[in-house]
Amino acid sequence: MNVRKSLIYSCILLFLINTGCDKQIHTLETVSPDSTIQVKVIVEKGKVFYTVCKQHKPVINKSFLGFKFSNMPDLDHDFIISGVEKNNYDQTWEQPWGEEKFIRNNYNELIVHLKEKSSLHRNLDLIFRIFNDGVGFRYNIPEQPQVDSIILMDEETEFNLTGNHKAWWIPVHSETSFYESLYRHTAISSIDTANTPLTIEADSNLFLAIHEANLTDYASMTLQRKDSSLLKCELVPWSNGVKVYGKTPFVTPWRTIIIATKAEALITSHLMLNLNEPCKLENISWIKPMKYIGIWWNLHMGDNTWEQGPNHGATTKNTMQYIDFASKNGFGGVLAEGWNVGWGMNETCSFTKPYPDFDIEKVCNHAASKNIQLIGHNETHGAATDFENQMEHAFEMYSKLGMHVVKTGYVGKYLDGKEWHDGQYGVRHYRKVIETAAKYQLMIDCHEPIKPTGLSRTYPNLMTQEGARGQEYDAWSTDGGNPPSHTTIIPFTRMLAGPLDFTPGTFNFNNPLHQGTRVQTTLAKQLALFVVLYSPLQMASDCPNNYNNNPAFGFIKKVPCDWQCTKVLNAKIGNYLTIVRKDRNSENWYLGSITNENVRELTIRLSFLDPEKKYQAVIYADNDDANWNSNPFAVSITSNKVTSADFIVIKLAAGGGQAISFTPVSE
Ligand code: CA
Repeated sequence: MNVRKSLIYSCILLFLINTGCDKQIHTLETVSPDSTIQVKVIVEKGKVFYTVCKQHKPVINKSFLGFKFSNMPDLDHDFIISGVEKNNYDQTWEQPWGEEKFIRNNYNELIVHLKEKSSLHRNLDLIFRIFNDGVGFRYNIPEQPQVDSIILMDEETEFNLTGNHKAWWIPVHSETSFYESLYRHTAISSIDTANTPLTIEADSNLFLAIHEANLTDYASMTLQRKDSSLLKCELVPWSNGVKVYGKTPFVTPWRTIIIATKAEALITSHLMLNLNEPCKLENISWIKPMKYIGIWWNLHMGDNTWEQGPNHGATTKNTMQYIDFASKNGFGGVLAEGWNVGWGMNETCSFTKPYPDFDIEKVCNHAASKNIQLIGHNETHGAATDFENQMEHAFEMYSKLGMHVVKTGYVGKYLDGKEWHDGQYGVRHYRKVIETAAKYQLMIDCHEPIKPTGLSRTYPNLMTQEGARGQEYDAWSTDGGNPPSHTTIIPFTRMLAGPLDFTPGTFNFNNPLHQGTRVQTTLAKQLALFVVLYSPLQMASDCPNNYNNNPAFGFIKKVPCDWQCTKVLNAKIGNYLTIVRKDRNSENWYLGSITNENVRELTIRLSFLDPEKKYQAVIYADNDDANWNSNPFAVSITSNKVTSADFIVIKLAAGGGQAISFTPVSE
């Protein structure tokens, strides 16, 4: 940080502000390191606003900032600027796992110290960080004698867009409490209240994604539409209507706006991670990305049950067979859902008591002998307090058994019967789980979570989360399953927030339980999703008997889930997407390309490959006659030698995809 520069700048600015004090408008400006993004903070007649421009064209018009409280006067007017700081920062940091090994954190910072001119003379700081790929800003109410406890009723932050643009969005709480909706693609004027990330196409060369980073002891931000181009922060309330309880120093999460000139660049933005704190865990040697399989799809297909009975799924015998299969095929973990007491009628849920036919010690010993992790499963049904009461004891037990991964679940409209998952109540609960898990060296895969906000940087044991319509909807959703376009939208929306446990890799689309509901892709697209949908715990969702003897399983066995780097080769949101990623632990590259319901041909250059090397490309493609609806299983597997100078034509069937592995060869 350039402290000297900051101080000099502050002195000049304060001089300008003070000498111009009879003026009614004061404007402070900072630009991104590459000067393409400009942010202004404006204090006008005591009220404070901000604007954002990209290449001097407005992106966010004058937007209001402030707070309303129930225990003191509102803090949203009567301000004067009492100080200004400017800093710059440029550092590259290493991720323990991720889509990119090294991330550059480069921004210019503007801190505006505000003070009320009369009333309580309270202080408020606004902190803006301007990156080359977008903007983050937050409020800080510093410690001061005038303010102690805070009962926040409204954060008034606005996002005043430049028009009634098209957006991709999901509604808040009206369908599910945990983001399991299909994305709408409408004008902003059709939004009521939307979850974030909210992705906006302002014009063909300008894409925005509004979200938040580092959601800590606060309520989630949703976006309420005020008019056809004005969105306002609407915090998820407690059941009593309060938004947030706090004390000074009171700092909000970062409000984030990714600004990209093409859709591809939304995916490779690291704004979210850069606005979170560095890793807080001292020893992370036990944190390891892995692919896993599980006793899971067979439960959804009705072949087995979660609860005890003649077809109980998670028995000692079945789980040991899954472990053998996992070990033979290069997986790192086996999930066993329904291992613990609590699934049957009138059973009290226990996270430590296995069903009688599940010998957890025997299973864990067998897993250890095969170098496989048993993945514990804690479905709380939203009973957060009960889970907290059992958690310490349960996690200690798992740790003693050598387990390092737990999948948590929160199916149910509310937590503890009355609080939203994404209010401050839930934010506190989910954080407690992550911290307790870290204490016992457990990685977390959270289903029915709060949307990710980049916390994996600080707590790298928070590996992956759901928070989207995953593959399970292809098992039982009454609307027939996820439409072919779904996976061409979520990389540009939900996945901008962090890894997704979508659970790709279903090979048998026949559905004995729900006729008319099925996987709406080709089989080649299921393979491509292993590259397109990033998760450091990546599940192959199907049962071993559907993988056995299918040559397409070769790609799933080989594809890694931890990457050196990621490039997006082409994209049109809701239509198609091609991503290539380099394995973190070898010189291999992997490509995933997917389309919506439309047939497509995409030509790509292999210029991402090392020009000094030759590669064997193994291509898993849709057959010419493949079609998600009428002929989904037709995959052709071919092998070619290629170099970085080559072009290839990717042919995608309706609802199709293509997966390629590139392995260096000596000749
Ligand atoms: Ca779910």
